Amino acid sequence: MLVLLLGIAAMAQNAPDHPSVTVDGKTFTPRSILARNMGTPEDQTTAFAPHKIVGNVYYVGTKTLSAFLVVTGQGNVLINSTYERNVRTIQKSIEQLGFKFSDTRILLGNHAHGDHMEGDALVKELTGAQVVSMAEDVPALKAMKPGGKEHPVDRIIHDGDEVTLGDVTLTAHLTAGHTSGATTWTMPVSEAGKTYRVVFYSSLRSPAVLTPPVIEQFKRSFAVVRTLPCDLPLGDHPAEYGMTEKYAKLKPGVSNPFIDPSGCYLEADMEEAMFKAILAEQRKAEPSQ
Ligand SMILES: [Zn+2]
Repeated sequence: MLVLLLGIAAMAQNAPDHPSVTVDGKTFTPRSILARNMGTPEDQTTAFAPHKIVGNVYYVGTKTLSAFLVVTGQGNVLINSTYERNVRTIQKSIEQLGFKFSDTRILLGNHAHGDHMEGDALVKELTGAQVVSMAEDVPALKAMKPGGKEHPVDRIIHDGDEVTLGDVTLTAHLTAGHTSGATTWTMPVSEAGKTYRVVFYSSLRSPAVLTPPVIEQFKRSFAVVRTLPCDLPLGDHPAEYGMTEKYAKLKPGVSNPFIDPSGCYLEADMEEAMFKAILAEQRKAEPSQ
């Protein structure tokens, strides 16, 4: 058993770049997905032009790490602090849009990895925001201590719980697999007299080695995401929803390119195909019982 576990650990470190899957005319490998999501170190820390997405939802993240601001009459909700070194960049983007960073009342996150939630302690220090975390991600968050800072957790939520600020209510959906508490957030947004269902997806990217509990988490999550009503898909990495391409199409008088119901499950389709391919390879390689 120990030898098998050590073997799996070694496999994860030197993960070969297969399988490959082709979905919607594009071919992906584990490494190409990671490269697409993360870009260069500079992409991870350079602000992308802050912009309005729809209604009261704004983009305030970097070129490859998403951060979203939801503006309400009672202060604002920030989704994803990203790396701690990006917090001042996010602050600047919020201010460029004409909002106050100090109005951040609630801090949410998509999942307990440093590129999405490492900056939580600093955001709390600077704004006093309440930090909300999915119960299953709390242990991983508590282990995240940039500069030795304790990771704040002010409210622990569970699948289906709601977070309300002013006239805005976000619903938390447990979409585990990438982490145990990976959370997809949904909320309705009004623009020009219409209501749109916005989905802030957490990554559905498989690790190189799938353990039995993680396999069950992903199976459940791929089913769950397809039940979420969606008009406007977003993601914790901009490439997951084609931000750059959609942003380039933003023009006054033209319909909002971020409203993309037919794109709502594209990322899940691709990640599910990759998950199944990784699982099939792994089952083939496993010694027969
Ligand atoms: Zn991650």
